Amino acid sequence: MTCPRCNSDCPNMVNFCPNCGFAFDAGRPKYTEYSQPQYQQYPQYYLVVQAPGENEANISFVCGIISLFAGFILGIIAIVMGKKAIRLGSTDSKARTGIILGWISIAVTAVGVMMVILFMTLFIIRVNM
Ligand SMILES: [Zn+2]
Repeated sequence: MTCPRCNSDCPNMVNFCPNCGFAFDAGRPKYTEYSQPQYQQYPQYYLVVQAPGENEANISFVCGIISLFAGFILGIIAIVMGKKAIRLGSTDSKARTGIILGWISIAVTAVGVMMVILFMTLFIIRVNM
């Protein structure tokens, strides 16, 4: 790079001529002002794709588990939501698990009710004898 004022040879990256002090800044592009590469200017969007019937499958699964301890009403919800999830096209295994757990809770409740009836019947028979 040659100084335009004194014509001495200057190193390329200096801001002033070491010989006469001429400021090179005005005629030189400012590298720091270069814009970012264009691909960095676009925000990145992440598409959140929800599987069909995913909510219903999750509800079915949760209700199915709770119904094993809390009884057949949640079991029925688990079955209904599980079937809805499958009808909506869910391939989530939680939907099928929820239905199975729902039926188990109903079966457990039914057995429990029958046991109570049986014991009450035996109790009444024994009291009356
Ligand atoms: Zn100079």
